[in-house]
Amino acid sequence: MKSAAAERVALALAASGLAASGLAGCAGIPNPLASNSLPAKNAICVGQGVAVDAAFPSAGRHDCIIAPDGGIVISVDHEPAAVEGINPSPWFAFRITSDAPRQLAVTLDYTDYSHRYAPYISTDGAHWTVLSPDRVSLNEKKTRASLRLDLPKGVLWVAGQPLSPSRDNVEWTRRALMGQGFQEEHYGKSLEGRPLIGFVGGGGIDAIVMLTRQHPPETTGQEAYRGFVERLIGRTDNAAKTFRAKNRIILAPMPNPDGVDGGHWRLNAGGMDLNRDWGQFTQPETRALSAWIKEQVGTRRVLSMMDFHSTDKTVIYAPPLNAPSPTIGFLPALKEKFDHSLASPPEWSFSHNVNGGTSKGWALEALKAPGITVELWDQIPATEARALGAAAADALIDYFTLRD
Ligand SMILES: [Zn+2]
Repeated sequence: MKSAAAERVALALAASGLAASGLAGCAGIPNPLASNSLPAKNAICVGQGVAVDAAFPSAGRHDCIIAPDGGIVISVDHEPAAVEGINPSPWFAFRITSDAPRQLAVTLDYTDYSHRYAPYISTDGAHWTVLSPDRVSLNEKKTRASLRLDLPKGVLWVAGQPLSPSRDNVEWTRRALMGQGFQEEHYGKSLEGRPLIGFVGGGGIDAIVMLTRQHPPETTGQEAYRGFVERLIGRTDNAAKTFRAKNRIILAPMPNPDGVDGGHWRLNAGGMDLNRDWGQFTQPETRALSAWIKEQVGTRRVLSMMDFHSTDKTVIYAPPLNAPSPTIGFLPALKEKFDHSLASPPEWSFSHNVNGGTSKGWALEALKAPGITVELWDQIPATEARALGAAAADALIDYFTLRD
């Protein structure tokens, strides 16, 4: 009896016509499977002239079937969780290869979870457009989403957000900081052995700390982080120059590479929510990052630590205005900057939970700094997300250089 994998390869070969033509093994004739033109050998299902696969970094955790009506049903599964309470962030990303242009109905089956991410599509995995809402229909419980897709001959990618695997934000940060005197540091290794990479630069009296992507699908938060970095580095006025000269700038663009590349909804490879682990430090990613931040900060005053995320609205989680931090006065200045410079200013929520295990709480406890969780709406346009990040950089520069 053939294994399930062998069965799929046989089906894939049959679907691509190779088994019948007998070309696959002939010397001198290119093997389309080997050249990856049809990703059928990695397919999770094959038939109706299409193959579906999830064999790329940040692909979702999927299986699929061909339904009796000829449509394709793809399960959207989450990573194993060490403790109960996964946040409902049902991430999906898969690739459909078709042997001809055709229409295809694809149903995302979330079992008990609800559809959250508007599908994006791409023919090259790099340039993405949102699938028109009239092409998406949900059942009453929102546990199944039906997509009507126009497939080209070749490949169509479908994902919950434009794909951004772990190397993407590291490479973006490296490019953004080029020639600015920053150091790239390998501050540790993830559970699965991926490098944990941070960047540090600027002067040395005080410090600021920025991070994003603790939670894998939260790429609109990453856009705000990028807007922050661009503005912080890009401003050429004297206040900005003074700010950069006086502050050690500590950036962690990819603290959960295993979760990001594994297509996780929220957790690292150890099944833990890293942004609930900044107290127990059970995971190598949080242990390494917190130790590296402390080492880079040394005895400096930390003006703020911002952690960029995404959720169902744009909202700022900040400590109370009477929290014990020498720079807590920055928060009203940040709020005023947002209110005056953004078309849709964020809501604010002020609280502190000593045992919450968030980076925000740790910043206040360990660094005496206003730790801020900056949450961007899942569907916020990239330009608006970047504008919010830029406004946060402006607020830091303007408040601390005009005041000190
Ligand atoms: Zn998050």
